[in-house]
Amino acid sequence: MSTRAIVLKSIITCPFCQFQQTETMPLDSCQYFYECEKCRETLKPLKGDCCVFCSYGTVACPPIQQNKPCC
Ligand SMILES: [Zn+2]
Repeated sequence: MSTRAIVLKSIITCPFCQFQQTETMPLDSCQYFYECEKCRETLKPLKGDCCVFCSYGTVACPPIQQNKPCC
């Protein structure tokens, strides 16, 4: 049995301008939209992903890390 700490910090890489920004993920919810601080484009999850962190972040969102169904 192993316990895994949930990672709440994720580095989002903007697909438009490659700008990287560290964000803190909400524990029990998914973030569907994310506005890039640099180019102001609105990021949306890729097909099959539940949130912007799963698509563009370095770490999958907390529900996925806990093997929970995502919102
Ligand atoms: Zn950008």
